[in-house]
Amino acid sequence: MLRVYNTLHKKKEEFKPLRDKKIGMYVCGPTVYGPGHIGHARTYIAFDIIRRYLEYSGYKVKYVVNLTDIHDDIISKANELGITLFELADKNIAVFFKDMDSLGIKKADVYPRVTEHIKEIVDFVKVLQEKGFAYETDDGVYYDISKFKDYGKLSGIKVKEQKTGTRVKTDKYEKDRVQDFALWKKQKDPSEPAWDSPWGKGRPGWHIECSVMSSKHLGEQLDIHGGAVDLIFPHHENEIAQSEAHSGKKPFVKYWLHSGFLNVEGQKMSKSLGNFIEIPQLLEKRDARAFRFFVAGLHYKSRIDFSEKGMEKVEKTLEKWDNFIERLLEWNNGKENSAVEKIVEKARKEVIAAMDDDFMLPNAWASLQGMQTAVNKLMNEGKFGKNDAAAVLELLKELDGFLQVFKFEKGGGELSKEQQELIKKREKLRAEKKWEEADAIRKELAGQGILLDDTPAGTKWKIVKK
Ligand code: AMP
Ligand code: ZN
Repeated sequence: MLRVYNTLHKKKEEFKPLRDKKIGMYVCGPTVYGPGHIGHARTYIAFDIIRRYLEYSGYKVKYVVNLTDIHDDIISKANELGITLFELADKNIAVFFKDMDSLGIKKADVYPRVTEHIKEIVDFVKVLQEKGFAYETDDGVYYDISKFKDYGKLSGIKVKEQKTGTRVKTDKYEKDRVQDFALWKKQKDPSEPAWDSPWGKGRPGWHIECSVMSSKHLGEQLDIHGGAVDLIFPHHENEIAQSEAHSGKKPFVKYWLHSGFLNVEGQKMSKSLGNFIEIPQLLEKRDARAFRFFVAGLHYKSRIDFSEKGMEKVEKTLEKWDNFIERLLEWNNGKENSAVEKIVEKARKEVIAAMDDDFMLPNAWASLQGMQTAVNKLMNEGKFGKNDAAAVLELLKELDGFLQVFKFEKGGGELSKEQQELIKKREKLRAEKKWEEADAIRKELAGQGILLDDTPAGTKWKIVKK
């Protein structure tokens, strides 16, 4: 029986979907003003494992991840680059899809884009206004949180501030109270992208997109809604206010799941600190499978402190798994041992029990690690046969259906002549301190699935899955 930690009730609960075995699952997607960063990767790997584990457990999951392709950051970035909003979004979405694929993340069933749902958004806001939950001002349409009695039920935020009767002017907007939020932003300057609406030309606020697109693609009630902890307030609180006001009190989401935030070397990632790591940047230096293994080793709610040292440690453990699997694939001697079946069954049961307990991956790995040690010992003692190897491999393949971290082919592969030449050429460039040209070769090879590591003993290479 699966149990999940529900942020809404701050406890673990038995997982009972709304419609028997069919699950509607929505996770807040990226704002596509640039390529995704490794914090996104952390969250989407975590939810990929959850989704795949639900499927492994016999559920049919419809998975929706939105793409925020209209946002103040996208507008300013597009202006800065002198391209349109759509060109910028298209470019970054293509990179995002490629990165998700490299990280072993299964495609969502739908990736709805905000700019393709403007009509639905306008209709939704109209209903909120008709029902008295929204009001219009000179610069937009706002949600009146004083009208929604349950406001704060997810985040625990208290609405203290009373309406004063006079409009507050924040740095940018005019509204009745500071916590009211924009559903629709009126166009202020003709250069801003805008769509027609009953309130004149403008664009949607941020929170409304998730209420509208989740209901369009999954219905008014979702089984699971995810995102990282940073979104609990105000984003998810506001989604509840919008959706439940719109549908008339039906609970919007049954289980709210929140992944832990990823920091870099102990600090929040930010462009100004210079510790911002985009996914393509990570994949130039590191095996995507190793990053996935990093995330898959931890509970989805854990905060992750990404560091080079941490990655190196994880890579070593993954290498041990690769060697173990290779050994199993090549295993050709020894007598069958009836103890192996028990070892395999015990591991399978323990992994499932761990995953059923709010996807407790560290416990699952402890069991698998125990199995690896036990099996290696039997192999060393010659008490292990070919069929035993097949049984262990079968279990690992089965679990890899949701873990997606193992490699089941033998050998590290070979480099082509051209690739060997490129590595030599790069070493020469490095000796001449021509870093930029050397880096261009690193990128070229990374694109072909070859990662380089410059060690004191020379450049080492590794072939990774692309
Ligand atoms: P954003 O592009 O910032 O709107 O975020 C898209 C998704 O990634 C949301 O579910 C966020 O909660 C999640 N996310 C953003 N930054 C991080 C981070 N540093 N660590 C983990 N998840 C993150
Ligand atoms: Zn959202």
